[in-house]
Amino acid sequence: MLNNNKNLRILFFLSVVFFVACKTAQETTNTNQQLQPKNVSLNGKLFSSLFQQRAAEYRALCYQAYYAARNSINHYKPTTNKPLAIITDIDETILDNSPYAVHQAYAGKEYDLQSWYEWTSKSAADTMPGAGSFLQFCKNNNIQIFYITNRDEVERNATLNNLKKFNLPNTDDAHLILKQTTSSKEARRNNVLENYEVILYMGDNLADFSSLFDKKSETQRANNVDLVSSEFGKKFIVLPNANYGDWESALYHHRYNYTQFQKDSIMKSVLKGY
Ligand SMILES: [Mg+2]
Repeated sequence: MLNNNKNLRILFFLSVVFFVACKTAQETTNTNQQLQPKNVSLNGKLFSSLFQQRAAEYRALCYQAYYAARNSINHYKPTTNKPLAIITDIDETILDNSPYAVHQAYAGKEYDLQSWYEWTSKSAADTMPGAGSFLQFCKNNNIQIFYITNRDEVERNATLNNLKKFNLPNTDDAHLILKQTTSSKEARRNNVLENYEVILYMGDNLADFSSLFDKKSETQRANNVDLVSSEFGKKFIVLPNANYGDWESALYHHRYNYTQFQKDSIMKSVLKGY
C-alpha cells in the first residue's frame, strides 16, 4: 500500500512536469511563430535590412558615395552665374528606413501606404552613415540642397522634423519638394534647374537621376545605365538599397497587384543558379 502511494505520487509529479514542459514548449513555439515572417519572400526583406543595419560594408558604401559627391563638388567648374545646388532624394539616400521594412516583414506584410505614413509620422528614421557631414559640407561651400522626394504632402511636417533632428541644412518648405501629381521627378528637377546650377544628383533609385529611368523595363534600365555610365560617381551619386526600389518593381513589370506567391515565382524564374 505504501509503495502504491509512493508510485502514485511519483506518477502525479511526472505528469505535472510533463504538462508544464508541454505548455512551455507551446508558448515558445507561439512566440517564435509571432516573430516569423509569414512567407519566404519577406525573409528577403529581413536579410537586406540586416545588411543595411549591421554590415560595415553598407556603411563603407555610403561613405564611398558621399566621398564621390564631395570630390565632384571640389572639382566642379560653374558654367553660369546661377547659385549652386545639389538635388538629393531622402529615403535610403539621407534617411534609413530599414526599421519599417523589418516591422512590415514581421507582420507578414509588404509596403503599404498607410503603414508607411504611420512610420514616417514618427520622424524616427536615422540618417545614413556620412549623410549629415556631407550635407554640412555642402552648406559650408554655399551649395543649396533641394530634397526631391516621393513622400506625400501629408508627410511634410514629419519629414522636416525628421531632417531637423539632425540639423541638416535647408530643411524648409522651399527646399523640400514632395510628390504632387506624378512620381516622376523630372519636372521637379527642371523647376530647380531654372534658378540653380545643379552640380549633382543623389539617390538610391535610378529615377532619382533622369527620366531615362522612369518606369522602364529591366532591359531598358540596364541599357540606359550603360548609356550614361560615365556620369556615375560624378554627376549621379548612387546609394545602396537592396530593400526596395524600381529594380524590384521592374522585375514585376511595374505591376502592383501580384500576390506574394506570384512574386516568389517570378523571382525564382529569373534567378541564375547552377
Ligand atoms: Mg529613395
